[in-house]
Amino acid sequence: MAYDANNVFAKILCGEIPCNKVYEDDHVLAFHDVNPQTPVHVLVIPKGPYVSVDDFAEHASETEIVAFVRAVGKIARDLGVAGSGYRFLSNSGADAHQEVPHFHVHIFGGRRLGRMIQPPA
Ligand code: AMP
Repeated sequence: MAYDANNVFAKILCGEIPCNKVYEDDHVLAFHDVNPQTPVHVLVIPKGPYVSVDDFAEHASETEIVAFVRAVGKIARDLGVAGSGYRFLSNSGADAHQEVPHFHVHIFGGRRLGRMIQPPA
């Protein structure tokens, strides 16, 4: 899938839409999800134009990849969930119900999260 430069996270990155920022460096931005599913629900995104984790893994530089993974760990520690536990999740594509086509990782925490996948309804 080609990157859509008009997606909502691209607009956050260029300052067109505000966000509630929790972390930023040269390669990474993290902010609170606008519709939190858990007491802690933060989104971590690379600043580069990647659609999904597979796109990021194939096309991002090693510097970007290292920065992203290190940032996720730091954010989890800074949010206070590294000890109690958290979920690191990325939806990619239609079957995963990815809504925003800019690669992002959700960090969920702050309560017991239950099993990872709900059984089919
Ligand atoms: P996904 O289904 O993995 O693509 O999740 C996209 C997430 O982005 C959802 O949890 C939304 O609540 C969140 N979201 C959408 N727009 C915004 C926004 N402007 N600021 C913060 N979070 C957003």
